[in-house]
Amino acid sequence: MSTTAPPSTATTFHHHPNPDARSDEERERLVAAPAFGTVFTDHMARVTWTAGAGWADHRVVPYGPLSLDPAAAVLHYGQEVFEGLKAYRHADGSVWTFRPEANATRFAASAHRLALPQLPVEDFLTSIETLVAVDSAWVPGGDETSLYLRPFMFASETFLGVRPTREAEYVLIASPVGPYFPGGVKPVSIWVVRDFHRAGPGGTGYAKCGGNYAASLLPQQQAQAHGCDQVCFLDAATGTELEELGGMNVFVVAADGSVSTPALTGSILEGVTRDSVLTLLREAGREVTERGITLAEVRDGLVSGAVAEVFACGTAAVVTPIGRLASDDFDLPVGDGGTGPVTAAVRAQLTDIQYGRAQDHHGWMHRLLPPR
Ligand SMILES: *Cc1c(COP(=O)(O)O)cnc(C)c1O
Repeated sequence: MSTTAPPSTATTFHHHPNPDARSDEERERLVAAPAFGTVFTDHMARVTWTAGAGWADHRVVPYGPLSLDPAAAVLHYGQEVFEGLKAYRHADGSVWTFRPEANATRFAASAHRLALPQLPVEDFLTSIETLVAVDSAWVPGGDETSLYLRPFMFASETFLGVRPTREAEYVLIASPVGPYFPGGVKPVSIWVVRDFHRAGPGGTGYAKCGGNYAASLLPQQQAQAHGCDQVCFLDAATGTELEELGGMNVFVVAADGSVSTPALTGSILEGVTRDSVLTLLREAGREVTERGITLAEVRDGLVSGAVAEVFACGTAAVVTPIGRLASDDFDLPVGDGGTGPVTAAVRAQLTDIQYGRAQDHHGWMHRLLPPR
């Protein structure tokens, strides 16, 4: 939604300031050189759900460990969902986030699939607005830096029986992050895994849940053992079509300039970046299709030159060029192994919008804080 969105009507988050908040000096040191996902701000937002009372006790509290009973359902049956988005500081000091309603809606859809309660979209948005306002000094200001926001929800009920939880916790934490590619964008190598799948028909592939990531880690380890950076999964039904990486969607650019990406089948995560890239490419006048893409087609296209570029996309790395594709029976460079022009252009277009360097014609940016 755009800046003209009406003020939020969601429940107020009560602020309990952290008495041990880091000093300005310590915070500035931490924000200056953040390693991804290792440094967190002074506060976190929380909302507690019970089957009897619904969502209650909206609060922003000091960041710190959660206390869980060893019999908490999430620790046994993995009833958990999460989201990932970023807050960007623009040149005038204002702070914005990108399409947060899309994340809020997906969070609710993921929760539904995992039989968790659905957090109202307004509460999701207000938790972000409130936490970023409280910890505004933690939003970095450098090139391609951001405050990574991680909303998540889990089954907190103390109960070992197998049924949907009657108690859940929603938590939002935030972590300042530096550029994903500190030395400039660098193509990654991809291992296409044959004997494992990330998700199957009717499963949880479209939901953003920790369990999908747990299932992707052994294949990811194998990809690394084969000298590749990341793993790409094939569809579980036929084992012939590209689905996505462990945490990023995938696009194929043909030599004629047309672009395709795997259609959403239920086992693919519907990325906000994927949708934004589709929009930008279509507006640029490209022929863009969502369809089944076989591995054979891509492999043959890399050999013949019919496939010019392959890239992955997601919030963390935005758009990542793929420079090499390998599996049990082939190992091929993509183009010359570098970053292709279509990949580079769409990456620049998207980051220019996110960092306020280009006009936001789509109403994708949501202002969190005014200029300072
Ligand atoms: C989060 C995620 C993506 C990317 O989604 P974005 O909304 O673009 O960040 C892609 N695939 C999987 C499996 C994911 O979990």
